[in-house]
Amino acid sequence: MERIWAPWRIEYIRKKKSDGCILCEILKQDEDISNYILYRDVENAIILNSYPYNPGHLVIFPYKHIANLKNLTEKERNEHFALVSRSTKVLRQAFNSEGFNIGINLGKVAGAGIDGHVHTHIVPRR
Ligand SMILES: [Zn+2]
Repeated sequence: MERIWAPWRIEYIRKKKSDGCILCEILKQDEDISNYILYRDVENAIILNSYPYNPGHLVIFPYKHIANLKNLTEKERNEHFALVSRSTKVLRQAFNSEGFNIGINLGKVAGAGIDGHVHTHIVPRR
């Protein structure tokens, strides 16, 4: 397994973070293309990470601002993980990905950059 070296992420790490929730702010704007929103489903959206670990790094998040998976309804949770599955299929075709790191960081102590709004990272690997 090759380690991911992503020095461009230092800009994000050092950047002053917004007081509000960046995911909620992006959803309210009508600028999906410039905000890299790839898809809006009924309960969740898919966004291209602006500071990716790898090209094709996607983030899936519910429209509802919640910090934990347990606060998702069954419908929201099912759609969320169906989008995770569909995303891997698309990334496999588009990026020739052979594998993925799929992760959810719950809470600041677990490394969540946006700890108030649960989201799933999908990082394609080759
Ligand atoms: Zn939010």
